[in-house]
Amino acid sequence: MADSSCIFCKICAGEMEADRVHEDEHTVAIRDLNPGAPTHILVLPRKHVATLNDLTEDDDALVAHIHRTVRTVAAKDGLTDYRVAINCGAGAGQSVFHIHFHVLGGRALSWPPG
Ligand code: AMP
Repeated sequence: MADSSCIFCKICAGEMEADRVHEDEHTVAIRDLNPGAPTHILVLPRKHVATLNDLTEDDDALVAHIHRTVRTVAAKDGLTDYRVAINCGAGAGQSVFHIHFHVLGGRALSWPPG
């Protein structure tokens, strides 16, 4: 169920502008407004799920599909080495409460992240 106050629901529905790099039945991928790397793409499920903690068994196929989308968008940007990150909760840096997978690449990435 879409959340009318959620910016990522609005982007998925085409009600808000974004630099879309991929879309299919279950996911939309957009370039991050404030990129942290030459490639910084966000993979969003069309379904509104607030955080990783809110996923249920019913979402197992969706989560697998999201990983396929991650691979697709990374390949489109010519990436073989990249990082996939999910911030879960404000204390971990989550600022938009619609689950999204950050795909970062195009530069050397240090570990651990801050
Ligand atoms: P997080 O902090 O993990 O919740 O990530 C949210 C990300 O969404 C941040 O990297 C923001 O720069 C990005 N962001 C917020 N609003 C938009 C938008 N309208 N279009 C693209 N990226 C956005």
